[in-house]
Amino acid sequence: MAVVIVGAGMAGVQTAVALRQQGHTGSLTLLGAEPHPPYDRPPLSKDVLLGRAEHSRFEIDFDELGIELALGRRAVSLDPDARTVKTDGGDLAYDRLVLATGAAPVALPGQPDSAFLLRTQDDALALRAALRPGTRVVVVGAGWIGAEAATVARQLGCEVTVVEAAASPLAGALPAEFGERTRAWYADAGVDLLTASAVSEITAHAVHLTDGRELAADVVVVGIGARPDNGWLAGSGIPLDDRGAVAADARLRAGRPDVFAVGDCASFPSARYGRRLTVHHWDNALQGARVVAANVLGGEVDYDPVPYFWSEQFGHMVQVAGVIDAGAEPLARGGTTVLWLREGRLQAVLTVDRPRDLTQGRKLIESGAALDPAKAADPDTQLRAATAG
Ligand SMILES: Cc1cc2nc3c(=O)[nH]c(=O)nc-3n(C[C@H](O)[C@H](O)[C@H](O)COP(=O)(O)OP(=O)(O)OC[C@H]3O[C@@H](n4cnc5c(N)ncnc54)[C@H](O)[C@@H]3O)c2cc1C
Repeated sequence: MAVVIVGAGMAGVQTAVALRQQGHTGSLTLLGAEPHPPYDRPPLSKDVLLGRAEHSRFEIDFDELGIELALGRRAVSLDPDARTVKTDGGDLAYDRLVLATGAAPVALPGQPDSAFLLRTQDDALALRAALRPGTRVVVVGAGWIGAEAATVARQLGCEVTVVEAAASPLAGALPAEFGERTRAWYADAGVDLLTASAVSEITAHAVHLTDGRELAADVVVVGIGARPDNGWLAGSGIPLDDRGAVAADARLRAGRPDVFAVGDCASFPSARYGRRLTVHHWDNALQGARVVAANVLGGEVDYDPVPYFWSEQFGHMVQVAGVIDAGAEPLARGGTTVLWLREGRLQAVLTVDRPRDLTQGRKLIESGAALDPAKAADPDTQLRAATAG
């Protein structure tokens, strides 16, 4: 059986490794548009940008695993009836296909080429070269990427301003009152944070805001989100959801028994959270890959994870497990952990510098155990001991 994986990021690489670990002996091709050896993305906005690491390559011996790397080669269209992926370097035939093309960063309308995005190794190395002590940096977007880029730019001695269209940082990921708590971190780091401030235009040496303000900038970094990178599937009949993600089923099959999708490019129905989820987190690319590998090999494994994410910003480790849905009730546990409960059961946990709460909370979400709110709110009681009854 020939397996072709399109996309050589975390999800594609981990699917290939898991296929070999789970006993696949047939041919295995990993197609990647980027020319570089496959690498990990989280360090790009951390150690690589800071200059503490030169790269974040996966330490995997692809030859030894019999994984054929086809790098610098892009899939351009798919004919699922003929089981053929057309690439810019010739056609690839498959018996099973895994879609793992990740996400592409969103640019501002009319964004000039001089503005930096932060998605790829090339992006990170180019930005790193531009960050010098005293450089005036404007970061557009106070989401996870913007906050991490601002952290590093400040560590490198740049003058940093962050511009955010929403009223609070991390508005796309957290309820406003929790994102708001990170505002002080910007001030403590000496970063100017302008919220409720929309960008109208980026010019050679300035960022212009819709209210007429003009921010002088030597370097502009745009971190306003990423969208599933599935344009090449147009006309293939592979189902996409309303956000452009491959609409996979509970076993991560993509509308056909021989095509699967995993990682940032896909969404899947979650029985746990009662809705379809698109998860742009590293852990999803790892866990999903193992399930896809099992199902490619004939398994019938459902994928219904407790999503997990971390971010390192302004000297803090922020971690979130679960999904923070509007109907869940927040419960503070000391000043640094927030729990979200629905009908007494934990749905999500957010921690700042409290990894133990995160680990224990994640297990409680997975088990679905009912919590005693009084015990759970007490930071001196171990979270795992806060179950009801
Ligand atoms: C700077 C940065 C920092 C991050 N930090 C964190 C963090 O701290 N914590 C966390 O949980 N998550 C973090 N993430 C998110 C995490 O890295 C992603 O969720 C993860 O990389 C998703 O893996 P993926 O394989 O699905 O997609 P990707 O990593 O995007 O890989 C997809 C690959 O497919 C290739 N591709 C696309 N289209 C084609 C095509 N048509 N043909 C061939 N190849 C194609 C792309 O070039 C890309 O290399 C970060 C992301 C970034 C960008």
